[in-house]
Amino acid sequence: METEYVVRFSSHPRPFWVRDSYCDNPNCRCRKVCLNFMEVNDTGQPQKKPLMFSIHVDVDTWQEDEPPDRPPEITAWVREFLDQCPLPRRTKYRESY
Ligand SMILES: [Zn+2]
Repeated sequence: METEYVVRFSSHPRPFWVRDSYCDNPNCRCRKVCLNFMEVNDTGQPQKKPLMFSIHVDVDTWQEDEPPDRPPEITAWVREFLDQCPLPRRTKYRESY
């Protein structure tokens, strides 16, 4: 299953689309969801050169797995997202895994 929704970060003027994808290896037990963020404008259309980033999150512990090197503002957004993602949304990711 793939779903989308939109989030805003306190330090950025435009929202981001969040699209989830899951490991498709039937033998893998990684328990991770990949969340792909793409900057959009206020009407939900993609920016011309959108900021994009993605994170891997354990669906059970809700911890980010192996954060890559990235600009500090993106790290701040990731932290904000992980802190504020509503529980029903987290549950949905876990059930979708
Ligand atoms: Zn996996």
